[in-house]
Amino acid sequence: MGDEDRRLVHNYIVERGLSDRLPEKILFWDETMRDGEQTPGVYFSPEEKLRIATTLSEMGVHIMDVGIPVVSQEEARGIRLIANAGLDATIMAACRAVRKDVEACIACGVDEVSIFIACSDLHLKYKLNMTREQVLEAAVGEVEFAKAHGVKVSFVTEDTFRADLDFVTELYNACIDAGAQRVVLSDTIGIMTPSAISWYLGEIRRRFKPAQLSVHLHNDFGMAVANSLAALEAGAEIPHTCVNGIGERAGNASFEELVMALEAGYGRKTGIDVSRLYEVSRLVELLSGIPVAVNKAIVGYNAFSHESGIHADGVIKHTGTYEPIQPERIGRERRFIFGKHTGSTAVLDRLQKHGLEPTKEQIQEIVAAIKACAESRRKEEQTAFIEAYREREEKRRGVSDAEFWAIVRRAGMTPPPDFR
Ligand code: MN
Repeated sequence: MGDEDRRLVHNYIVERGLSDRLPEKILFWDETMRDGEQTPGVYFSPEEKLRIATTLSEMGVHIMDVGIPVVSQEEARGIRLIANAGLDATIMAACRAVRKDVEACIACGVDEVSIFIACSDLHLKYKLNMTREQVLEAAVGEVEFAKAHGVKVSFVTEDTFRADLDFVTELYNACIDAGAQRVVLSDTIGIMTPSAISWYLGEIRRRFKPAQLSVHLHNDFGMAVANSLAALEAGAEIPHTCVNGIGERAGNASFEELVMALEAGYGRKTGIDVSRLYEVSRLVELLSGIPVAVNKAIVGYNAFSHESGIHADGVIKHTGTYEPIQPERIGRERRFIFGKHTGSTAVLDRLQKHGLEPTKEQIQEIVAAIKACAESRRKEEQTAFIEAYREREEKRRGVSDAEFWAIVRRAGMTPPPDFR
């Protein structure tokens, strides 16, 4: 939109100074290759991770957590491959607050380690079987150990927002004293809301010693990006994101959504090369095997598609009427879908683009025929597609049942009758 046209609409995020609350520098911390790869059924080879990491680094992503070395030897090989690739981004590996895990990270030659431990009493009791004192001791000990071995340290807790705030304060301040330069608060099960994040970060800023504040926010109720924006307005500097919003369960805050909300809504130059957002989305879609939802913001098919007569008419006259950003800006194209809701402007526009000059009557005839055609469409093909997609999700992700029981048989056990 040109400056002239911009005067025709308000942007209250900017006008009311909400954009001024953002930190001076926002550092994007990518989790596509760690949390994103933890999406059920997803596996990236070391070479595939390198492709993703290279693209994101070229686009200007600042920090990347590229995996957990103790997961497997291939995982460790992938981390070493990326750590030695000479990328501009800071390359990080993740580990539990367990000595051999920290050592495995350091052995990969990464710039930074992300040491995590759970901190809610629920996780301590049922998952870790540890006391608060034991958690504190393990965390501080491993932060000090990593720091002494020449890597930068980010300290992360799982389930931060359901933990006792006084314990959170004590634990993080002890780890900051021990040398953690960044601290990450995690909404591990995605239960926070923007206003709750604002309140919580206000408390944190008052309670924590100086450190770079980062947030790891899940999308279980669809609020990960909204919560990320609230966190940035409230003093966080480093949002975690995943391309296409992949990750555990409903995923993490979506990279492309957060970047474009900042660019378009807040008028903030993020330093990210947004012209490659669609390219990196397609890359992660292909390598993860997780299809981008048709109605996904920014990168879904429908994000820049128009069918309804009123909308298509508006967009043809001025794209700003019904599009928050231009699709070309992120490497995409606009599409007009011809169907039940089509109007005459879109038909005329398409014909004129091909050098045709229809009469009013011809346009009316064509619009009526398109509507009739769309309304008489049978649904076999669409039903078959949905069923094939569902079947793939049920049966073809991860290892199959047959593969699982074949592996069990090789370990010397007899599978149940149905799988022999
Ligand atoms: Mn996570």
